[in-house]
Amino acid sequence: MTNFPLGTVLGYPRIGRNRELKRALERYWRGDLDRAGLDAVRGEVRAAAREALAEAGLGRTDSSIPEAASTYDHVLDTLVTVGALPARFADLTDGESDVDLDAAFVLARGDASHTALEMTKWFDTNYHYLVPEISATTTFRYANRSRADEAREAAAAGFTTRPTIVGPVTFLALAKAADDAEAGFSPLQRLDDLLPVYLEVLADLRAAGAEWVQLDESALVAETLDASPAELAEAAARAYAALAGASERPQLFVATSYAALPDAAYRALAGAGVEAIGFDLVNGVAPAAIAEFPAVQHVAGVINGHNIWRGDLEAALAKLEELRATGAKVSASTSTSLFHLPHTLDDEGALDAGLRSWLAFANEKAGQVVVLARALNEGRDEVAAELEAASAALAQRAEATGVRVPAVRERVASLTAADLARAPFAEREVAQEQALGLPALPTTTIGSFPQTGEIRRARQAFNKGEIDEAAYEGFLRDEIKRVVDLQLELGLDVLVHGEPERNDMVQYFAENLDGFATTANGWVQSYGSRCTRPSILWGDVSRPAPITVRWAEYAQSLASQPVKGMLTGPVTILAWSFVRDDQPLGDTAFQVGLALRDEVADLEAAGIQIIQVDEPALRELLPLERARHADYLKWSVDSFRLSTAVAKPETQIHTHLCYSEFGEIIEAIDGLDADVTSIEAARSRMEVVGDLEAHGYPRGIGPGVWDIHSPRVPSEAEVVELVEIAERSIPARHLWINPDCGLKTRGYDETVASLRHMVAAATQAREAL
Ligand code: GLN
Ligand code: ZN
Repeated sequence: MTNFPLGTVLGYPRIGRNRELKRALERYWRGDLDRAGLDAVRGEVRAAAREALAEAGLGRTDSSIPEAASTYDHVLDTLVTVGALPARFADLTDGESDVDLDAAFVLARGDASHTALEMTKWFDTNYHYLVPEISATTTFRYANRSRADEAREAAAAGFTTRPTIVGPVTFLALAKAADDAEAGFSPLQRLDDLLPVYLEVLADLRAAGAEWVQLDESALVAETLDASPAELAEAAARAYAALAGASERPQLFVATSYAALPDAAYRALAGAGVEAIGFDLVNGVAPAAIAEFPAVQHVAGVINGHNIWRGDLEAALAKLEELRATGAKVSASTSTSLFHLPHTLDDEGALDAGLRSWLAFANEKAGQVVVLARALNEGRDEVAAELEAASAALAQRAEATGVRVPAVRERVASLTAADLARAPFAEREVAQEQALGLPALPTTTIGSFPQTGEIRRARQAFNKGEIDEAAYEGFLRDEIKRVVDLQLELGLDVLVHGEPERNDMVQYFAENLDGFATTANGWVQSYGSRCTRPSILWGDVSRPAPITVRWAEYAQSLASQPVKGMLTGPVTILAWSFVRDDQPLGDTAFQVGLALRDEVADLEAAGIQIIQVDEPALRELLPLERARHADYLKWSVDSFRLSTAVAKPETQIHTHLCYSEFGEIIEAIDGLDADVTSIEAARSRMEVVGDLEAHGYPRGIGPGVWDIHSPRVPSEAEVVELVEIAERSIPARHLWINPDCGLKTRGYDETVASLRHMVAAATQAREAL
């Protein structure tokens, strides 16, 4: 068996350098591409990934290249590999033959007779995985051999790669108990039943030529899962004793990312006989017990796999050297899989050359690992030039114009507590009632109306210079008028302008603020075939000119009902951008908060009486370690308050949050001090409303009454039923009637029908008061 390589990456972008897989998937689902055509693209994307990593300098045959392709989601891949289909998908398999890709697509996307698996965020990232559903009766069997097929395919292409799967502990820890599971059941209780399948998988991978296999066990670093760290470490000890004890298997590399690997979990893995253990040295320190396990290969994640910065290579090497000085066997790696990054800077020719020299995308990060591996192998002198170049870029970045703007810093430094506080809610409530005169149970929407093909085409034509600014602005005004007229006709109480001018709720602001850059091809996978193109927040942020005011003003001029001004909050702007790594996130959030504060003041001055500041990412950035929660919740809440507290008492501040798991952050939501908070609730049938009542939430709440994630039109009766559930927990004077989220992904037919039912249901409920 071979040694573990001195340098590796934990994974690679999966969607293709030019989003080939995205396009192929969407064509396949539409019926415009047959299965052979899709498989050809999948194979090309896998081959290109291996070649790119070899090109970056990783070895073709030393297991340093991960075999980490995924057609939709890697948790789904693992689910299918171990055959853990929830009962409602039982008809997709005969229980014996392999569960194939088409069945996996049904699990992921649902169809006429199957509700899809739920999605949720992968650790503290903006990637969504499909949530396995496990019960006491879930069957496990080796039901999909793609991982072994891919290892053989790699071998045929002259590679020995390292198959990568989600480990058994993380697979179960990220699963939810199936709806029909008994109270108190936890998926981890099924660990012993799952392990035999992993043994089969390992044996098969070995037979396919794999010398090392990578099992991702990032659940071991998370303190925010249902299972406690102690339970997870105990499960890891059991699982890996069983897997390491197998006679026919590749060597085991257990990788962990996103936070520090706790000592107990490290001991569990090392004590079980795992040959290599990976831990994140970007977000954590090395486990204390390393010196006790001299046989283990320690794979130190010193190159940040989750951001796009070239960073401090010298410091990364110093961490490796320090670790080695303890006598440990050390390899260099990225802290996370690289699937959080775009493929390569080679596709960013238009980016400012200075900024470019500060960056590293996936291929360049792999190149950095290769430099570190050479330093480990041949000594640091051999890579002196590379270290120097990285340090020079870093020094140049620190001094570059725009990175630190004195005026911005002085403004942040001069803020006081008073800048974060509004008048007491009781006072605001009275002032707003007088100013707005809204009916009981007011109806509204979350902001966006359907982004039609026409809107996208107009934006493209404008970006390509095919139509001029005046023509584009005229188009947008017509669109806004159409949307306002529609809302008037539907009888909504609080209107929106529909957001037609926004390509994306974060990118739009990034494009209009100083301190941001946008990429040409910097796509990253969000889920399945969906990709986002995060902006790069590289410098101090300020607002050169008002951003949304003219649209809001125009919309308001068309109606006597209030039109909501619509902004994206500081936390969400950070969460969905690539953020500078040279200062605490909180400092950056305050700069964004200040820019938004000016926008709020301008909207108010333009006569906008209700302003919504969306913070759908508030939960996502919550750190995985509890010790870091207080600090995060403080700056995230304060930056929101900074952006909104400038509003007068009679101006109503709304916020919108996109999920319904509030346990951890309910205090923070309260702390935002928004006058009205809309939340996702229809999907969970108002479950969250009870949590809010238990907490004693004192302000306006709009629990969603229409699940906009599905094209299904809710009936009036259904909406009435949800409103009635909400009314049991929320006083009528605080209850708003709105959908779960924005309507941009919906079509007009279903939107109009659903809103009609919503308004009718609100009228009914109002009459019954
Ligand atoms: N205002 C945004 C919209 O309606 C909110 C989107 C979101 O919450 N993700 O599209
Ligand atoms: Zn939302």
